Amino acid sequence: MFTLEATSGQARAGTIKTAHGEIKTPIFMPVGTRASVKGLWQEDLDELGAQIILGNTYHLFLRPGHELIERMGGLHKFMTWNKPILTDSGGYQVFSLADLNKLTEEGVTFQSHIDGTKHLLTPEKSMEIQRALGSDIVMAFDECPKLPSTREVLQRSLQLTYRWAKRCKTVELKPHQHLFGIVQGGLELDLRRESLQGLKELDFPGYALGGLSVGEKNEEMVELCKAFVPEMPADKPRYLMGVGKPIDVLNGIKAGLDMFDCVLPTRNARNGQFLTHAGPLNIKKARFVEDPLPPDPQCDCRVCRRYSRSYIRHLFNVGEYLAGQLITFHNLYFYMQMVKNARTAIIAGNFDDYYQTFYNHYTSNQWE
Ligand SMILES: [Zn+2]
Repeated sequence: MFTLEATSGQARAGTIKTAHGEIKTPIFMPVGTRASVKGLWQEDLDELGAQIILGNTYHLFLRPGHELIERMGGLHKFMTWNKPILTDSGGYQVFSLADLNKLTEEGVTFQSHIDGTKHLLTPEKSMEIQRALGSDIVMAFDECPKLPSTREVLQRSLQLTYRWAKRCKTVELKPHQHLFGIVQGGLELDLRRESLQGLKELDFPGYALGGLSVGEKNEEMVELCKAFVPEMPADKPRYLMGVGKPIDVLNGIKAGLDMFDCVLPTRNARNGQFLTHAGPLNIKKARFVEDPLPPDPQCDCRVCRRYSRSYIRHLFNVGEYLAGQLITFHNLYFYMQMVKNARTAIIAGNFDDYYQTFYNHYTSNQWE
Protein backbone atom coordinates (compact mmCIF):
# COMPACT_ATOMS: atom_id res chain seq x y z
CA MET A 1 0.00 0.00 0.00
CA PHE A 2 3.07 2.30 0.33
CA THR A 3 5.49 3.46 -2.34
CA LEU A 4 8.61 5.35 -1.29
CA GLU A 5 9.30 8.02 -3.91
CA ALA A 6 12.18 10.11 -2.63
CA THR A 7 14.37 10.72 0.40
CA SER A 8 16.35 13.73 1.58
CA GLY A 9 18.48 12.75 4.55
CA GLN A 10 16.13 10.56 6.58
CA ALA A 11 13.05 12.52 5.39
CA ARG A 12 10.76 10.60 3.01
CA ALA A 13 8.19 11.38 0.33
CA GLY A 14 5.83 8.60 -0.69
CA THR A 15 2.32 7.56 -1.63
CA ILE A 16 -0.14 5.52 0.42
CA LYS A 17 -2.85 3.83 -1.63
CA THR A 18 -6.29 3.24 -0.13
CA ALA A 19 -9.68 2.31 -1.55
CA HIS A 20 -10.77 5.94 -1.07
CA GLY A 21 -7.79 7.48 -2.82
CA GLU A 22 -4.09 8.15 -2.60
CA ILE A 23 -2.31 10.02 0.17
CA LYS A 24 0.85 11.91 -0.72
CA THR A 25 3.24 11.84 2.24
CA PRO A 26 4.43 13.36 4.47
CA ILE A 27 0.89 14.22 5.49
CA PHE A 28 -0.93 15.92 8.34
CA MET A 29 -4.35 14.50 9.18
CA PRO A 30 -6.97 16.93 10.57
CA VAL A 31 -8.79 15.45 13.55
CA GLY A 32 -12.53 14.90 13.06
CA THR A 33 -13.19 13.60 16.55
CA ARG A 34 -16.96 13.15 16.38
CA ALA A 35 -17.28 12.84 12.59
CA SER A 36 -16.59 16.55 12.18
CA VAL A 37 -13.47 18.68 12.11
CA LYS A 38 -14.77 21.23 14.61
CA GLY A 39 -16.02 24.41 12.96
CA LEU A 40 -15.35 23.40 9.35
CA TRP A 41 -17.50 22.26 6.45
CA GLN A 42 -16.41 19.23 4.46
CA GLU A 43 -16.04 21.67 1.54
CA ASP A 44 -13.47 23.55 3.63
CA LEU A 45 -11.49 20.33 4.10
CA ASP A 46 -11.50 19.81 0.33
CA GLU A 47 -10.27 23.35 -0.20
CA LEU A 48 -7.54 22.89 2.43
CA GLY A 49 -6.25 19.91 0.50
CA ALA A 50 -6.91 17.48 3.35
CA GLN A 51 -6.14 14.03 1.94
CA ILE A 52 -7.12 11.98 4.98
CA ILE A 53 -8.86 12.81 8.23
CA LEU A 54 -9.12 11.10 11.60
CA GLY A 55 -12.18 9.81 13.43
CA ASN A 56 -12.23 8.82 17.10
CA THR A 57 -13.51 5.36 17.93
CA TYR A 58 -14.25 6.17 21.58
CA HIS A 59 -16.44 9.18 20.79
CA LEU A 60 -18.26 7.59 17.85
CA PHE A 61 -18.89 4.41 19.83
CA LEU A 62 -20.59 6.43 22.59
CA ARG A 63 -22.44 8.80 20.23
CA PRO A 64 -24.12 8.09 17.86
CA GLY A 65 -22.87 4.47 18.10
CA HIS A 66 -20.95 2.45 15.52
CA GLU A 67 -23.97 0.35 14.65
CA LEU A 68 -26.00 3.42 13.69
CA ILE A 69 -23.12 4.68 11.55
CA GLU A 70 -22.88 1.29 9.84
CA ARG A 71 -26.63 1.34 9.11
CA MET A 72 -26.15 4.80 7.60
CA GLY A 73 -23.62 3.33 5.19
CA GLY A 74 -20.40 3.70 7.19
CA LEU A 75 -18.46 6.76 8.34
CA HIS A 76 -17.50 7.96 4.82
CA LYS A 77 -21.11 8.06 3.68
CA PHE A 78 -22.47 9.27 7.04
CA MET A 79 -20.27 12.37 7.04
CA THR A 80 -20.08 12.63 3.23
CA TRP A 81 -16.31 12.40 3.11
CA ASN A 82 -15.15 10.21 0.25
CA LYS A 83 -11.42 10.48 0.87
CA PRO A 84 -9.45 8.25 3.25
CA ILE A 85 -10.26 8.08 6.97
CA LEU A 86 -8.11 6.75 9.79
CA THR A 87 -9.72 5.72 13.07
CA ASP A 88 -7.87 5.33 16.34
CA SER A 89 -8.50 2.33 18.57
CA GLY A 90 -10.33 4.14 21.36
CA GLY A 91 -7.63 3.14 23.82
CA TYR A 92 -6.09 6.57 24.25
CA GLN A 93 -9.43 8.25 25.09
CA VAL A 94 -10.41 5.46 27.45
CA PHE A 95 -7.22 6.09 29.40
CA SER A 96 -7.42 9.87 29.26
CA LEU A 97 -11.14 10.79 29.32
CA ALA A 98 -13.16 8.03 30.91
CA ASP A 99 -13.52 7.43 34.64
CA LEU A 100 -12.62 4.47 36.79
CA ASN A 101 -10.99 2.43 34.09
CA LYS A 102 -9.88 -1.02 35.13
CA LEU A 103 -7.17 -2.61 33.04
CA THR A 104 -6.98 -6.40 32.71
CA GLU A 105 -5.54 -8.84 30.18
CA GLU A 106 -8.94 -8.92 28.53
CA GLY A 107 -9.26 -5.16 28.00
CA VAL A 108 -10.33 -1.95 29.73
CA THR A 109 -13.52 -1.35 31.67
CA PHE A 110 -14.53 2.28 31.67
CA GLN A 111 -17.38 4.62 32.47
CA SER A 112 -18.56 6.98 29.76
CA HIS A 113 -17.57 10.61 30.40
CA ILE A 114 -21.03 11.56 29.10
CA ASP A 115 -23.55 9.50 31.09
CA GLY A 116 -21.50 7.24 33.33
CA THR A 117 -22.57 3.99 31.60
CA LYS A 118 -20.10 1.13 31.95
CA HIS A 119 -18.38 -0.48 28.97
CA LEU A 120 -15.65 -3.01 28.28
CA LEU A 121 -13.31 -2.17 25.43
CA THR A 122 -11.20 -5.10 24.22
CA PRO A 123 -9.00 -5.57 21.15
CA GLU A 124 -11.84 -7.51 19.50
CA LYS A 125 -14.42 -4.85 20.39
CA SER A 126 -12.20 -2.07 19.05
CA MET A 127 -11.88 -3.99 15.75
CA GLU A 128 -15.65 -4.56 15.64
CA ILE A 129 -16.29 -0.82 16.09
CA GLN A 130 -13.69 0.24 13.50
CA ARG A 131 -14.96 -2.39 11.05
CA ALA A 132 -18.48 -0.94 11.41
CA LEU A 133 -17.14 2.60 10.90
CA GLY A 134 -15.41 1.37 7.75
CA SER A 135 -12.27 3.55 8.02
CA ASP A 136 -9.44 2.89 5.57
CA ILE A 137 -6.76 2.70 8.24
CA VAL A 138 -7.59 0.93 11.48
CA MET A 139 -5.38 1.23 14.54
CA ALA A 140 -4.57 -1.70 16.81
CA PHE A 141 -5.83 -1.48 20.40
CA ASP A 142 -2.87 -0.58 22.60
CA GLU A 143 -2.03 0.55 26.09
CA CYS A 144 -0.40 3.95 26.24
CA PRO A 145 1.40 4.60 29.56
CA LYS A 146 2.04 8.17 30.65
CA LEU A 147 5.65 9.36 30.89
CA PRO A 148 7.67 9.20 33.01
CA SER A 149 7.07 5.50 33.73
CA THR A 150 9.53 2.94 35.05
CA ARG A 151 11.16 0.46 32.65
CA GLU A 152 9.19 -2.27 34.34
CA VAL A 153 5.87 -0.54 33.64
CA LEU A 154 6.88 0.25 30.04
CA GLN A 155 7.97 -3.32 29.34
CA ARG A 156 4.84 -4.85 30.84
CA SER A 157 2.78 -2.40 28.81
CA LEU A 158 4.48 -3.07 25.46
CA GLN A 159 4.12 -6.80 26.00
CA LEU A 160 0.41 -6.39 26.70
CA THR A 161 0.18 -4.18 23.60
CA TYR A 162 1.81 -7.02 21.61
CA ARG A 163 -0.67 -9.62 22.88
CA TRP A 164 -3.54 -7.23 22.12
CA ALA A 165 -2.15 -6.57 18.63
CA LYS A 166 -2.10 -10.32 18.01
CA ARG A 167 -5.77 -10.53 19.04
CA CYS A 168 -6.62 -7.57 16.77
CA LYS A 169 -5.10 -9.51 13.84
CA THR A 170 -7.51 -12.42 14.39
CA VAL A 171 -10.55 -10.21 13.70
CA GLU A 172 -11.54 -10.01 10.06
CA LEU A 173 -11.92 -6.45 8.81
CA LYS A 174 -13.61 -5.23 5.64
CA PRO A 175 -11.57 -5.95 2.48
CA HIS A 176 -10.59 -2.28 2.01
CA GLN A 177 -9.31 -1.82 5.59
CA HIS A 178 -5.64 -1.87 6.66
CA LEU A 179 -4.65 -2.53 10.28
CA PHE A 180 -1.59 -0.65 11.63
CA GLY A 181 0.44 -1.83 14.63
CA ILE A 182 1.50 0.58 17.39
CA VAL A 183 5.03 0.57 18.79
CA GLN A 184 5.31 1.39 22.50
CA GLY A 185 8.28 1.48 24.88
CA GLY A 186 8.50 5.08 26.06
CA LEU A 187 11.89 6.73 25.66
CA GLU A 188 13.89 3.50 26.01
CA LEU A 189 15.45 2.58 22.69
CA ASP A 190 15.84 -1.11 23.51
CA LEU A 191 12.19 -1.36 24.60
CA ARG A 192 11.07 0.33 21.36
CA ARG A 193 13.12 -2.29 19.48
CA GLU A 194 11.56 -5.11 21.46
CA SER A 195 8.08 -3.73 20.73
CA LEU A 196 8.78 -3.31 17.00
CA GLN A 197 10.32 -6.79 16.71
CA GLY A 198 7.15 -8.42 18.04
CA LEU A 199 4.88 -6.36 15.80
CA LYS A 200 7.02 -7.02 12.71
CA GLU A 201 6.49 -10.74 13.22
CA LEU A 202 2.75 -10.07 13.02
CA ASP A 203 3.44 -8.23 9.72
CA PHE A 204 1.34 -5.05 9.65
CA PRO A 205 1.01 -2.89 6.50
CA GLY A 206 2.01 0.18 8.56
CA TYR A 207 3.52 1.02 11.94
CA ALA A 208 2.76 3.85 14.34
CA LEU A 209 4.80 5.34 17.16
CA GLY A 210 2.52 5.62 20.16
CA GLY A 211 3.16 6.86 23.66
CA LEU A 212 4.94 10.08 22.75
CA SER A 213 4.02 13.63 23.71
CA VAL A 214 2.57 12.21 26.93
CA GLY A 215 4.57 14.14 29.51
CA GLU A 216 8.21 13.79 28.41
CA LYS A 217 10.49 16.70 27.46
CA ASN A 218 10.34 17.75 23.82
CA GLU A 219 14.07 17.09 23.27
CA GLU A 220 13.62 13.57 24.61
CA MET A 221 10.96 12.84 22.01
CA VAL A 222 13.12 14.32 19.24
CA GLU A 223 16.11 12.19 20.30
CA LEU A 224 14.05 9.01 20.49
CA CYS A 225 12.60 9.59 17.00
CA LYS A 226 16.02 10.41 15.56
CA ALA A 227 17.52 7.20 16.93
CA PHE A 228 14.60 4.84 16.42
CA VAL A 229 12.62 5.81 13.30
CA PRO A 230 15.34 4.76 10.80
CA GLU A 231 14.98 1.22 12.22
CA MET A 232 11.29 1.06 11.33
CA PRO A 233 10.49 -0.84 8.10
CA ALA A 234 11.35 1.45 5.17
CA ASP A 235 8.72 -0.04 2.87
CA LYS A 236 5.77 0.69 5.19
CA PRO A 237 4.13 3.98 6.26
CA ARG A 238 5.33 5.35 9.60
CA TYR A 239 2.84 7.29 11.70
CA LEU A 240 3.62 9.52 14.71
CA MET A 241 0.43 9.56 16.79
CA GLY A 242 -0.94 12.74 18.35
CA VAL A 243 2.09 14.98 17.65
CA GLY A 244 2.29 17.92 17.61
CA LYS A 245 3.30 21.55 17.23
CA PRO A 246 4.51 22.69 13.78
CA ILE A 247 8.19 22.19 14.64
CA ASP A 248 7.40 18.77 16.16
CA VAL A 249 5.86 17.67 12.88
CA LEU A 250 8.88 18.95 10.93
CA ASN A 251 11.22 17.15 13.35
CA GLY A 252 9.18 14.00 12.77
CA ILE A 253 9.51 14.37 9.01
CA LYS A 254 13.25 14.95 9.45
CA ALA A 255 13.47 11.69 11.42
CA GLY A 256 11.71 9.76 8.63
CA LEU A 257 8.06 9.70 9.73
CA ASP A 258 5.26 10.01 7.16
CA MET A 259 1.95 10.62 8.92
CA PHE A 260 0.90 13.01 11.70
CA ASP A 261 -2.23 14.08 13.53
CA CYS A 262 -2.85 16.50 16.36
CA VAL A 263 -5.74 18.51 17.79
CA LEU A 264 -3.43 21.49 18.37
CA PRO A 265 -4.23 23.54 15.23
CA THR A 266 -7.99 23.17 15.76
CA ARG A 267 -8.08 23.32 19.57
CA ASN A 268 -5.75 26.32 19.81
CA ALA A 269 -7.82 28.06 17.12
CA ARG A 270 -10.80 28.00 19.44
CA ASN A 271 -8.62 29.68 22.07
CA GLY A 272 -7.65 32.48 19.70
CA GLN A 273 -4.23 31.25 18.60
CA PHE A 274 -3.11 31.64 14.99
CA LEU A 275 -0.10 29.57 13.94
CA THR A 276 1.93 31.73 11.57
CA HIS A 277 5.25 31.57 9.75
CA ALA A 278 6.67 33.93 12.41
CA GLY A 279 5.38 31.86 15.34
CA PRO A 280 2.08 31.64 17.24
CA LEU A 281 -0.07 34.79 17.30
CA ASN A 282 -2.60 35.26 20.08
CA ILE A 283 -5.40 37.35 18.62
CA LYS A 284 -6.60 38.34 22.12
CA LYS A 285 -3.57 40.60 22.62
CA ALA A 286 -4.30 44.31 22.87
CA ARG A 287 -1.67 45.12 20.26
CA PHE A 288 -3.98 43.75 17.53
CA VAL A 289 -7.01 45.96 18.36
CA GLU A 290 -6.50 48.26 15.38
CA ASP A 291 -4.12 46.11 13.34
CA PRO A 292 -5.17 46.13 9.68
CA LEU A 293 -2.74 43.35 8.65
CA PRO A 294 -3.87 39.82 7.81
CA PRO A 295 -3.26 37.22 10.55
CA ASP A 296 -0.23 35.82 8.71
CA PRO A 297 1.16 38.15 6.01
CA GLN A 298 3.04 35.18 4.47
CA CYS A 299 -0.12 33.08 4.11
CA ASP A 300 -2.36 33.03 1.03
CA CYS A 301 -5.33 31.21 2.58
CA ARG A 302 -8.79 32.68 2.08
CA VAL A 303 -8.85 34.02 5.65
CA CYS A 304 -5.52 35.86 5.34
CA ARG A 305 -6.48 37.19 1.89
CA ARG A 306 -9.65 38.81 3.24
CA TYR A 307 -9.74 39.59 6.95
CA SER A 308 -7.72 41.81 9.29
CA ARG A 309 -6.40 40.99 12.73
CA SER A 310 -8.51 43.82 14.09
CA TYR A 311 -11.75 42.30 12.70
CA ILE A 312 -11.00 38.74 13.85
CA ARG A 313 -9.98 40.01 17.30
CA HIS A 314 -13.33 41.80 17.54
CA LEU A 315 -15.21 38.62 16.52
CA PHE A 316 -13.29 36.59 19.07
CA ASN A 317 -13.88 39.13 21.84
CA VAL A 318 -17.65 39.21 21.41
CA GLY A 319 -17.87 35.44 21.05
CA GLU A 320 -18.91 35.21 17.38
CA TYR A 321 -18.71 31.63 16.01
CA LEU A 322 -16.99 32.92 12.91
CA ALA A 323 -13.80 33.73 14.85
CA GLY A 324 -13.09 30.08 15.70
CA GLN A 325 -13.99 28.99 12.17
CA LEU A 326 -11.64 31.48 10.55
CA ILE A 327 -8.72 30.66 12.84
CA THR A 328 -9.31 26.91 12.43
CA PHE A 329 -9.32 27.23 8.65
CA HIS A 330 -6.07 29.21 8.63
CA ASN A 331 -4.33 26.90 11.12
CA LEU A 332 -5.13 23.77 9.15
CA TYR A 333 -4.13 25.49 5.92
CA PHE A 334 -0.83 26.37 7.61
CA TYR A 335 -0.20 22.70 8.50
CA MET A 336 -1.25 21.41 5.08
CA GLN A 337 1.05 23.89 3.32
CA MET A 338 3.89 23.06 5.72
CA VAL A 339 3.78 19.32 4.92
CA LYS A 340 3.16 19.94 1.22
CA ASN A 341 6.21 22.19 1.01
CA ALA A 342 8.21 19.64 3.00
CA ARG A 343 7.26 17.01 0.40
CA THR A 344 8.33 19.28 -2.45
CA ALA A 345 11.66 19.93 -0.70
CA ILE A 346 12.23 16.21 -0.09
CA ILE A 347 11.60 15.45 -3.76
CA ALA A 348 13.98 18.27 -4.73
CA GLY A 349 16.56 16.87 -2.29
CA ASN A 350 16.81 19.99 -0.12
CA PHE A 351 14.67 19.24 2.92
CA ASP A 352 17.34 20.45 5.36
CA ASP A 353 17.30 23.95 3.81
CA TYR A 354 13.52 24.04 3.99
CA TYR A 355 13.61 22.88 7.61
CA GLN A 356 16.18 25.48 8.64
CA THR A 357 14.37 28.38 6.94
CA PHE A 358 11.02 27.39 8.41
CA TYR A 359 12.57 26.82 11.84
CA ASN A 360 14.35 30.20 11.90
CA HIS A 361 11.20 32.11 10.96
CA TYR A 362 8.85 30.17 13.20
CA THR A 363 11.04 30.41 16.30
CA SER A 364 11.58 34.16 15.82
CA ASN A 365 8.25 34.47 17.69
CA GLN A 366 7.47 37.89 16.26
CA TRP A 367 4.08 38.19 17.90
CA GLU A 368 5.15 37.44 21.46
ZN1 LIG B 1 -3.92 32.12 6.41
